[in-house]
Amino acid sequence: MAVLPIHKYFVFNNEIRQTENFIPGENEGGIYEVLRVVNGIPLFLKDHLERFYNSAQLSEKSIRFSENQIHTFLKNLIENNEVEIGNVLISYKINLKIFFIQHSYPTTEMYRDGVFCGILKAEREKPNAKVFQTSVRQRADKMLKENGFYEVLLTDQFDHISEGSRSNVFFVSDKELVTSPGSKVLLGITRQKTILLARELNIPVIEHELKISELKHFDAAFITGTSPKILPISKIDGFSFNPKNDIVRQLMKRYEDLIVAYLKLQSG
Ligand code: PLP
Repeated sequence: MAVLPIHKYFVFNNEIRQTENFIPGENEGGIYEVLRVVNGIPLFLKDHLERFYNSAQLSEKSIRFSENQIHTFLKNLIENNEVEIGNVLISYKINLKIFFIQHSYPTTEMYRDGVFCGILKAEREKPNAKVFQTSVRQRADKMLKENGFYEVLLTDQFDHISEGSRSNVFFVSDKELVTSPGSKVLLGITRQKTILLARELNIPVIEHELKISELKHFDAAFITGTSPKILPISKIDGFSFNPKNDIVRQLMKRYEDLIVAYLKLQSG
């Protein structure tokens, strides 16, 4: 599955090259990260690079560039392209390629009213590793396109919900959050921040696998991810959820505050 660069320049190993010279290659099995650039600053960079090296280890790959080098390449990419906002892909199979990709962020209405999600029976191999896995991606993309869903939630053979095709998912009941155990999902950076924010608000977070039929017990649900941030869900299959749930709204606000604080620290 070819992912293509946008803007004028991309990074190829330790060089910066013109995008018109980009040669799309097979990336199946390669590892990657997608991070968000805001005000020219890569958000939560350290967390992303830590997960990148962890994905390499889980995939028995050895990245021949250090964290500091990748940081420098990324800085050069952002400066050369003169881009303030967007998503950057860092990928490694045989070569290191870093480039801006097309992004799509939720609209104000989506944050206000919540989004529709579908259910897809599919499991990611090595859930903790962020690896290009074309078959799941293609099936998810087909379902999103055909049904107009914002996201599809993946379920295993026992109908347990693990995560979204490119997000993590949380369910809200009374005064607690439920999300699938860390061993079963990609350890999303937004998931990790959400759990910390919930703890600060004294909201218990239970890591437990839920069956689709158990969704009726929950008032609210939301997905987390680099592009959606914290995004309320209004419907999953036949189950409806309250996008205005107080816990969801508090977490959304806290997450925005966290981003502002991070940017302030980095630009300071
Ligand atoms: N789960 C999967 C399968 C993903 O692909 C992603 C992101 O692309 C996430 C979860 C969310 O991770 P993050 O919050 O780091 O974007």
